[in-house]
Amino acid sequence: ARPITPESGRPGGLQNVINILAVSSCKGGVGKSTVAVNLAYTLAQMGAKVGIFDADVYGPSLPLMVTPEIPILEMDPETKAIKPTEYEGVKVVSFGFAGQGSAIMRGPMVSGLITQMLTTAQWGNLDYLVVDFPPGTGDIQLTLCQTVAFSAAVIVTTPQKMAFIDVAKGIRMFAKLVVPCVAVVENMSYFEAEGKRYFPFGSGSGERIQQDFGLPNLVRFPIVQDLSAAGDGGRPLVVSDPLCSTSRTFMELGASV
Ligand code: ADP
Repeated sequence: ARPITPESGRPGGLQNVINILAVSSCKGGVGKSTVAVNLAYTLAQMGAKVGIFDADVYGPSLPLMVTPEIPILEMDPETKAIKPTEYEGVKVVSFGFAGQGSAIMRGPMVSGLITQMLTTAQWGNLDYLVVDFPPGTGDIQLTLCQTVAFSAAVIVTTPQKMAFIDVAKGIRMFAKLVVPCVAVVENMSYFEAEGKRYFPFGSGSGERIQQDFGLPNLVRFPIVQDLSAAGDGGRPLVVSDPLCSTSRTFMELGASV
């Protein structure tokens, strides 16, 4: 990733965050949040100080995937600064931890609300802040990129042909905003049964994207029951089973950012 020095002017609570990573997809349900959360915990296991910001107002998934002891965000009544909560040593902020009707949920526009929450949270010193983008390449995503200088983007897709067109859109958006895409994740790439590999959604899309856009890293994750079970159980797979082959692939992804 491209580290950003404090002099380059990060707003508010992001001042001492070295790398801010965007994990993005153009469609919902491709596994973006699963990748974002497991990537964050992998970076923490590699020794980094890490935070996760779940930028989805409408369908926050972080509260399902991690289970902090204190599942709410506290707010300083004077400064209105949000204090991230924590799970397994990683600072986490999500609208799902804000509670219905809370003061921080009020706001005229969703994109304003997201950037406000992201920049006013007191992240402290972090090596990496992983931002789980809402799916798509609309106003919200653009505002996020214009407010915060992202160090790098990771694009998550599935192998279907249709996904290619959407991913290209995402890559172009980040290119316009001068955010380098450091990796493409082809999720649900294949599954293995009785020693055989099956490609239910076809294959080749990830390679095409990598070649067409000259992206440095393509990382594939198969369909793994344990990965979704861990996510649904509130404890990411890389935390509950750090030595399994999926967790090792996350190490590869971690090394590429
Ligand atoms: P998105 O953030 O793109 O909407 P999610 O990360 O919420 O997608 O994933 C959607 C569903 O698919 C979740 O139930 C998740 O556990 C599951 N899932 C994601 N990736 C995989 C995978 N590689 N193998 C099995 N299940 C997966």
